[in-house]
Amino acid sequence: TPPEQIRNFCIIAHIDHGKSTLADRMLQITGVVEPRQMRAQYLDRMDIERERGITIKSQAVRMPWAADVGDGQDVFALNMIDTPGHVDFTYEVSRSLAACEGAVLLVDAAQGIEAQTLANLYLAMENDLAIIPVLNKIDLPAAQPEKYAEELAGLIGCDPGDVLKVSGKTGEGVEALLDEIVAQLPPPEGRPEAPARAMIFDSVYDTYRGVVTYVRVVDGTLNPRERIEMMSTKATHDLLELGIISPEPLPSKGLGVGEVGYLITGVKDVRQSKVGDTVTTSARPAESPIGGYKDPRPMVFSGLYPIDGSDYPTLRDALDKLKLNDAALAYEPETSAALGFGFRVGFLGLLHLEIVRERLEREFDLDLISTQPNVVYEVTMEDGTDVRVTNPSEFPYGKVGEIREPIVRATILAPSEYIGAIMELCQSKRGQLGGMDYLSEDRVEMRYTLPLAEIVFDFFDQLKSKTRGYASLDYQEAGDQVADLVKVDILLQGETVDAFSAVVHKDKAYAYGTSMAGKLKELIPRQQFEVPIQAAIGSRIIARENIRAIRKDVLSKCYGGDISRKRKLLEKQKEGKKRMKNIGTVEVPQEAFVAALSSD
Ligand code: GDP
Ligand code: MG
Repeated sequence: TPPEQIRNFCIIAHIDHGKSTLADRMLQITGVVEPRQMRAQYLDRMDIERERGITIKSQAVRMPWAADVGDGQDVFALNMIDTPGHVDFTYEVSRSLAACEGAVLLVDAAQGIEAQTLANLYLAMENDLAIIPVLNKIDLPAAQPEKYAEELAGLIGCDPGDVLKVSGKTGEGVEALLDEIVAQLPPPEGRPEAPARAMIFDSVYDTYRGVVTYVRVVDGTLNPRERIEMMSTKATHDLLELGIISPEPLPSKGLGVGEVGYLITGVKDVRQSKVGDTVTTSARPAESPIGGYKDPRPMVFSGLYPIDGSDYPTLRDALDKLKLNDAALAYEPETSAALGFGFRVGFLGLLHLEIVRERLEREFDLDLISTQPNVVYEVTMEDGTDVRVTNPSEFPYGKVGEIREPIVRATILAPSEYIGAIMELCQSKRGQLGGMDYLSEDRVEMRYTLPLAEIVFDFFDQLKSKTRGYASLDYQEAGDQVADLVKVDILLQGETVDAFSAVVHKDKAYAYGTSMAGKLKELIPRQQFEVPIQAAIGSRIIARENIRAIRKDVLSKCYGGDISRKRKLLEKQKEGKKRMKNIGTVEVPQEAFVAALSSD
């Protein structure tokens, strides 16, 4: 297809504003998916995506659309790229955007602009995309299209009359939107004769075909059977197949300037085919890659341990398998005195963590304990050496000069009556107000700088509950800051329990120590001797509880001489012991760790 007849676009929206539903309707209206094959959220292929109703991996589909842009009717190729909507996957969104010339900015006509509407709009603007403002869900009785058309027009600086109104559910207005995509978005530009350059905006592992790489060609042409090179690593692969998706893969004879499609090289690991990287050919390599590539960088770490130690090899194999499809997943083996053999795993954020954990448990039938998630700390010792801490129990002892923690720039949108509650919450999380703007009389945008560690855990839930669900949040990495952090250890009878060590702000150390010590006192059964539980910063004890001694004698429960019953009890006690972990001389049931580590 000549570039003049191609339009590459994505749909960007706040979560639940109806992106996937609109994408479904477009597939149906353009005839790409036959009515009898249609199912809701056609593009969300992973089970977890369907169940949670969220899009994790972006997908690209080509749709034919006949339109008239002034010189008679022509059939255009519309490439729609569906993007993930959650903050954890911002980098994937930004690469998907970079593969497009334009974006449909979709806003729920009953909700108005939300935090991710803004975040995605800013990303689209950074990528110089043409924006088509669209209100969705106009079929809803609660829709206020006039009010929100004003709001949206004010935001992007257009006339309220230029805001399109559609319903992804009923299909109303969707044909007109497809016409506007052709009319308003510029065709792709590129140099057809130049060495080939294509940007990878997604790569997915398929059991049968290996890694399927989604690319947007910028310059030149990619042809089947060529040898290609990944510019960030210089690794080369044979191109076994290439083609377009419409909506199933369709091999083609080549991908030219502006075209969007897939490549198959037979590699088995998505890390050979990284999002953001540039593909060129070995025969005639391009001089420089397309800009903007970033290595995926885990932001949140957690220890993952099998509850049953004999599952360790299964866990290792499962992680190896998931990694094939998740370039951002990083892990290395770790041993814990309390939890045994496991892995320290790095994630993009908490949603990413939850998804990985859920897949491990569901697809590989594993029962797991995960330790309290933590962010990455950079520690500079007084002698100038730097230590990167991804596990609190490895926090260095000795002369610490400076500790830095990651921070984010957060945008919160909410009705203005909640300003006070939001400020209070952000202050308690060590936030610094950067600025505040009214979007309309009663809606406000607040910008905060916050430590990542303070917001990755339950910040969003607290924000929602303090604003009765009306606030929305988005955030972006913003470097790091020096902070007054300490490592708090939890000791049982003088022995540190590694799984409970945490790096927290100095002002919160006492609260962490007392709550953990209190929890463990409830959870650990009494032993034959007294067991002190202590929380300590270095050698300084900041909290203490005691588990009083009992004499545990199972046989005392038996009255007479029923030997077989006694034997049974003894065996039961042995059985119970298997799931005990010894911390020094203290026996702790595995359940106690699980319960203490699960958030409440
Ligand atoms: P996404 O998170 O942006 O992909 O949103 P979805 O497409 O998953 O839609 C979120 C919810 O809104 C689902 O329950 C949809 O059925 C509903 N929805 C989407 N579009 C419309 C619409 O045009 N009208 C109505 N009434 N509901 C819609
Ligand atoms: Mg979706």
